[in-house]
Amino acid sequence: MKQVKHLEEHNTPLNFTYADRHMDQTVSKYAIPEEGMDARVAYQVVKDELNLDGNPALNLASFVTTWMEPEADQLLKETANKNLVDQDEYPQTEEIHQRVVSMMGRMLNAPKDCDPVGTCTVGSSEAIMLGLLAHKWSWKKRRSDAGLPTTNPNVVFSADVHTCWEKFARYFDVEMRVVPLKSDQFYMTADQLDGFVDENTCAVGCVIGTTFTGQLDDVRSVNDYLLKLKAEKGWDIPIHCDGASGGFVAPFVYPEVEWDFRLEQVKSVNISNHKFGLVYPGIGTVVFRDRSDLPEELVFNITYLGGSMPNYSLNFSRASSMVLLQYYNFLRLGQDGYRRIMKNIMDNAQYLEAQLLELDVFELLNESKYLPTVTVRLKDRSMPNKVIYMLSDLLRQYGWIVPAYALPPNAEEVHVLRMVVKENFSRDMAEKFAEDMKLCIAKLKQDVTDFEMLSEASRNKGRIC
Ligand SMILES: *Cc1c(COP(=O)(O)O)cnc(C)c1O
Repeated sequence: MKQVKHLEEHNTPLNFTYADRHMDQTVSKYAIPEEGMDARVAYQVVKDELNLDGNPALNLASFVTTWMEPEADQLLKETANKNLVDQDEYPQTEEIHQRVVSMMGRMLNAPKDCDPVGTCTVGSSEAIMLGLLAHKWSWKKRRSDAGLPTTNPNVVFSADVHTCWEKFARYFDVEMRVVPLKSDQFYMTADQLDGFVDENTCAVGCVIGTTFTGQLDDVRSVNDYLLKLKAEKGWDIPIHCDGASGGFVAPFVYPEVEWDFRLEQVKSVNISNHKFGLVYPGIGTVVFRDRSDLPEELVFNITYLGGSMPNYSLNFSRASSMVLLQYYNFLRLGQDGYRRIMKNIMDNAQYLEAQLLELDVFELLNESKYLPTVTVRLKDRSMPNKVIYMLSDLLRQYGWIVPAYALPPNAEEVHVLRMVVKENFSRDMAEKFAEDMKLCIAKLKQDVTDFEMLSEASRNKGRIC
């Protein structure tokens, strides 16, 4: 949470850069200023302050889109004042929202006899919560209809998931059962599920492109495992697939891999449109396999904006821009455009991978087959783990933002650097990045040797004295 500053600090003056030329008053940093200022000056103040941020184009940490076409920027500006939730006021916007969900349902291979439904959200976190809430609700209904207790629901997922899964469990009071990673396998397979899944399991989560290594959970094996449980014990446990990062990569790069509605137990999927849907933040989508997978009780009919509007969301009002920009991208790129862009991004990730491997310092954790991420660890296992963190710091001096972290249990001994390759990351940038990485490694080696020599010298000095 952000802290509300104490009274004394309220009066800390704001420092101006170029806007200082036009200012003759001081402005408080932490309280709403008493008097306003000229629009141009306010604009300049905000713009100057943002110069302290990192450069989005050099941010290899995030999956989120940093560039769209000028036409999309124009649409963004023109539609920011339309509230998405005002369906009665803006029926055509709502019609487009429907189309976007429908296009995504088709992309996820919903079977012909299903009637997929869904909604656009602020991102995958909201979408995952909505998906899991629906499954919790259905589980509760099934149990109470059968006269069984409904007090201990659980959700099962691997330690490779994004924090929002844990958030769901805590916020919505569901026990989370986390399947640990293996020390040499960083995604989930069905053979790890025994002892985790039981009659109180509302859903099993699978990730399509894990945040940590970009690998895929083995959804097909989990699906088969749950089908067997259904036949043997009558437990009908749904899978929710988290396609936040891979949801737009899989259909275009490896369409033959089945993880979506082609698998019977996959009842809901979320995707972050603001990742490889190539739209600015924040938009995600949740899609249910069939209308019957979304309990009616969770859909609210809103009447106070005129007409009657069904609504299933955690948030309410927000700009319609991102939904419209996703529609723009679908029309503009078509499936062929997405296929070409995704293939290009994957090729660039592989190129970066090759460049980094040439330095003969790293080992790959994934072969960037499923996501355009490059995740590396040190080849020489005798090197201290902190080297990974020092490299991340050094890269920052060249402007690159590359996260360093340890994998979740039971692979916490593995420390990695992860680079997410997005559309803006060209081959030239890959080359420049590898060159900078080489310099960082050289510098690190130099510094470490200097340091060792220094301590050697001081030890010797100590002896002389
Ligand atoms: C990014 C991500 C999320 C969270 O998505 P937001 O759209 O940022 O809310 C969840 N799961 C995975 C696998 C992700 O990569």
